[in-house]
Amino acid sequence: MSVEGKHVIITGGGSGVGAELAKRFSAAGAKVTILGRRQEPLDNVAVPLGALALTADVTDRGSLDDALNNARAHNGPIDIAIANAGAAPSAPFSKVSTKDFRASLAVNLEGVFHLWQAALSDMKNAKWGRMIAVASTAGLKGYPYVAPYCAAKHGVVGLTRALAQELGRSGITVNAICPGFIETPLLERSIGEIIEKTGLNDAEARKSLIAGNPQKRFIQTSEVAGSALWLCSDSAASVNGHTLSLSGGEV
Ligand code: NAP
Repeated sequence: MSVEGKHVIITGGGSGVGAELAKRFSAAGAKVTILGRRQEPLDNVAVPLGALALTADVTDRGSLDDALNNARAHNGPIDIAIANAGAAPSAPFSKVSTKDFRASLAVNLEGVFHLWQAALSDMKNAKWGRMIAVASTAGLKGYPYVAPYCAAKHGVVGLTRALAQELGRSGITVNAICPGFIETPLLERSIGEIIEKTGLNDAEARKSLIAGNPQKRFIQTSEVAGSALWLCSDSAASVNGHTLSLSGGEV
């Protein structure tokens, strides 16, 4: 089994990991739909691939349902749902407001719940499906100054494990990919915040982030996309409820 002809939905497909997922799944012959809040970055990724680009906010179930119905009308039932949209602003715990905390849970955790629940009926009907979350090593261990993000990503790991149990006999697998720091626009924003808040220079800020990785390097988007493709292959049919650490052995 390959992903050829399968309909894959990728949230946060306009940049970083999501854009690479779109390229790799498209190259493998999948029908690709990417979602995000801004049309322009989505179009920049989708147009060269012949993919479908739809605006939706994963924190808003109604907006997501509308986009998925639109996607079904173009590309048919959803076979693969990759919950990749996320955000990781940093702040000391004492300065995190309730609003900030809820906002992080909304995009990083509720967004996964919304996508997977909205796509479930198609996969149940097909008796086959792949639910994948781009979680983080922050779902497996703690990091300072990103408590809401860590809480949300740990929640994604819990959701993944629970759903894998519940759907075990359905032909659907549910897994989380947990990368360390990946070279994307999100990382560049994090580095900017470190420079601004600590006075470190660019090189020192980058070094501080890879300090915990035994390979002393950032993860590449291609490594995340390759893992997602593998999770969709027959070779991974019995991989269910797994958290795949892509971190050079950090966790
Ligand atoms: P990115 O380039 O900032 O991409 C995040 C994407 O999510 C953007 O395209 C953004 O598009 C979309 N998005 C954000 N909020 C959204 C919302 N409410 N509804 C719909 N789309 C939304 O960051 P990235 O590094 O590729 O991140 C992808 C995933 O990898 C995230 O879940 C992140 O937590 C995870 N991750 C990243 C790293 C890292 O170091 N970069 C490490 C581990 C895990 P719009 O702004 O247009 O909506």
